[in-house]
Amino acid sequence: MSTPTLPASPDTTAAEPADATAPGVGPEPRTYLVRTLGCQMNVHDSEHMAGMLEQAGYTRASGEDEANGQADVVVINTCAVRENAATRLYGNLGQLAGIKSRRPGMQIAVGGCLAQKDRGTIVEKAPWVDVVFGTHNLDALPVLLERARHNEEAEVEIAESLQVFPSTLPTRRESVYAGWVSISVGCNNTCTFCIVPHLRGKERDRRPGEILAEVEALVAAGAVEVTLLGQNVNSYGVEFGDRGAFAKLLRACGRIEGLERVRFTSPHPAAFTDDVIEAMAATPNVMPQLHMPLQSGSDRVLRAMRRSYRSAKFLGILDRVRAAIPDAAITTDIIVGFPGETEEDFAETLRVVEESRFSSAFMFQYSQRPGTPAATMEGQLPKEVVQERFERLLALQERISAEESRAQVGRTLEVLVAEGSGRKDGATHRLSGRARDNRLVHFALPGGAGADADPGAPGTPANLPSEPAGLDDPRLADAADLDPDLPRPGDMVTVTVTHAAPHHLIADSATDGRAAGFAVRRTRSGDAWAAREKARLGGGDDHHGHGTPAPDGPVVLGMPTLGPR
Ligand code: SF4
Repeated sequence: MSTPTLPASPDTTAAEPADATAPGVGPEPRTYLVRTLGCQMNVHDSEHMAGMLEQAGYTRASGEDEANGQADVVVINTCAVRENAATRLYGNLGQLAGIKSRRPGMQIAVGGCLAQKDRGTIVEKAPWVDVVFGTHNLDALPVLLERARHNEEAEVEIAESLQVFPSTLPTRRESVYAGWVSISVGCNNTCTFCIVPHLRGKERDRRPGEILAEVEALVAAGAVEVTLLGQNVNSYGVEFGDRGAFAKLLRACGRIEGLERVRFTSPHPAAFTDDVIEAMAATPNVMPQLHMPLQSGSDRVLRAMRRSYRSAKFLGILDRVRAAIPDAAITTDIIVGFPGETEEDFAETLRVVEESRFSSAFMFQYSQRPGTPAATMEGQLPKEVVQERFERLLALQERISAEESRAQVGRTLEVLVAEGSGRKDGATHRLSGRARDNRLVHFALPGGAGADADPGAPGTPANLPSEPAGLDDPRLADAADLDPDLPRPGDMVTVTVTHAAPHHLIADSATDGRAAGFAVRRTRSGDAWAAREKARLGGGDDHHGHGTPAPDGPVVLGMPTLGPR
């Protein structure tokens, strides 16, 4: 990997001495922001980093401060999976160097997988970085920041094994209506393209009681949806000698009152057993959705990837899932151009994808990741070959996604209204959310669909902001208080799908006179969202957190977050 070109180190010699005010002490607590560059495991780790900083007295930088480079501490939570991870990190650091040279006392911390991997080389390449910490010692962040301020030199601390299970750390949740709950960390597999086992270590499982207590606490705080998170959820329990532990955990989640939606990611086809399918089908709050990473349809390539299932087994799992849960939407990850992949191997991937009927897929062009066995394998393919195959696969999956979406037209769905899921919501007067199968749905409000809708038209909820408003518009917190027809993030709406695109559904049934056009069900989550917004607008403490929502689409562990193709 080439060394990224860096800007000159900022001249801090003339800077004022670092602000000696301890965070949280004095009138102006230091502010922080966390930039997340990786997969959902990183997103959840960032929630822990934020929680620890807040416990230590820092406050989250406002959106304005963030935009103006005014945060006192910037933490970058890095990813090591993609070839461009280093470029992204050093691009971020280059931008921060300029800001730091104008803001004495500002601190920059780098954590996550790339920090674990590159360690001291980060401060060699970017000497303006104050703290480098790894995936095993998230808990050290506040102490390292303080030590770096006090000693006025960079602190690099990387632990070789997990010091504190991240779930025991304070957490600042990004969402009030949905939360991540780690069931395990690390991975015992040895997929040859993956850096995770190297950087995150062997699998460590949390005890079921601890997990369920965290889920119950989330629900008590207002959440209606929980996603169980692990690199390989199907091997959950092996560490404490119970191979059926994951299915039992799903069933136990089904008994938690107030928990309406349970999801999990990621399973592994090699370890995916029928008891899990049975538990999914028998537990009403486990959602009809499965993210099942295929990686390749070629048995020869799967062997080279050291993934111990074969394509027939994979397809068999999908058949059994669909037999037990007919409406299940299944998504996947696929790597194109693994070393040695022949045209025949690739044709196998196309065949399995055609048969699998994924609702969407995260597709990656293979790139060499230093430190992984695949990086040094023979048969690395030229970029043009990989690109051409990728485009063929993309075209195939786009067709399938479009067909699968079209099959949803006319269906009536319950949608959990989400914050920030629809980039065009403000312009279209639609709101957005996720169906039970995790499909993204943009839906119209009565009288409100279309940018030219008349906000005073009959059926328009009173107090709906008349100008384009998305769910990030805080006025909804007040408007929703007055009008029971206006759903808030965390509420449920029932709508009928009227149009389909490959990666989202449109449900304008509220405006086209259908019987099952539109119904709102207010939830505890919606109440919690409104209370949080009011606290935020009123300057009150926002204990639940507010900020960038988790990215759309199925969750991909060990992979960077990319939009579904
Ligand atoms: S790809 Fe997944 S299962 Fe394989 S080693 Fe990485 S984290 Fe483990």
